[in-house]
Amino acid sequence: MYMEKFSLSGKVAVITGAGRGIGLAAAEALAEAGALVVITDRDPALAEGAVATLAARGCRAEAETLDVTDVAAVERVAEAIAARHGRVDVLVNNAGIAISNHPAETMADDVWLRVIDVNLNGVFWCCRAFGRRMLEAGGGAIVNVGSMSGFIVNRPQEQANYNASKAGVHHLTRSLAAEWGGRGVRVNSVAPTYIDTEMNAYVYQDAEMYRHWVGGTPMNRLGRTDEVASVILFLASDAASLMTGSIVLADGGYVCW
Ligand code: NDP
Repeated sequence: MYMEKFSLSGKVAVITGAGRGIGLAAAEALAEAGALVVITDRDPALAEGAVATLAARGCRAEAETLDVTDVAAVERVAEAIAARHGRVDVLVNNAGIAISNHPAETMADDVWLRVIDVNLNGVFWCCRAFGRRMLEAGGGAIVNVGSMSGFIVNRPQEQANYNASKAGVHHLTRSLAAEWGGRGVRVNSVAPTYIDTEMNAYVYQDAEMYRHWVGGTPMNRLGRTDEVASVILFLASDAASLMTGSIVLADGGYVCW
């Protein structure tokens, strides 16, 4: 009975920014659980490459090009996927960027706006477009990829733009959970620590930064993409049927200190 709750057999799952990193790992996890996964990314080559990676492992996936900041494109892609499959059961809002090492007092307008646009506006556009269809269908699960940066202020890098965007994602998650909880649509977030992806590759060139990141983590290491993907799978599945509005930390203990 319990393992069956993790099955996504027969379900359609859409993931944003899934061409690589945490999104790709989430695509693998949901596909392995039986979902047909629609991999969306703004770079079509990245999305197609991810589909090929999954196909090589025997998983069903499709690619769609989607820049989450393009609200018209979000509506168009949501409509196309719903028309093609007749349903969207799971949405993972994973697309996100970080533009760090910009002190607030000198942060350029576009450095603030770009991060808020992808990380917060993009999540809302997708929740609205796909969530509306889930509400019409009477159910669905949305998992937003937040961050421990929505709880703490990272150091030593200054990134007020990123931290504020992720705190926004967490409270957007709770707001939508409250609005949609009685209508069958669950909305939760995962809040990871530093994960070993391209987003963080620069830390390997900066010994001081690495020392802060790993030294500030009780588990004394960065996280792996699969360790976030398994939390996403849990939240997307019926194993989390009583959960909505939760922000689940997967942080190696970072916020303990
Ligand atoms: P990556 O940079 O490895 O991957 C992000 C993916 O999102 C890329 O494929 C990227 O495409 C895509 N993307 C960027 N902007 C857009 C957009 N406007 N529309 C659609 N896709 C877009 O990042 P991670 O895998 O590390 O991060 C994934 C999520 O996890 C993000 O939301 C991030 O904030 C969050 N997170 C990451 C942590 C980490 O330590 N890595 C920690 C906590 C949270 P392109 O190549 O074109 O830019």
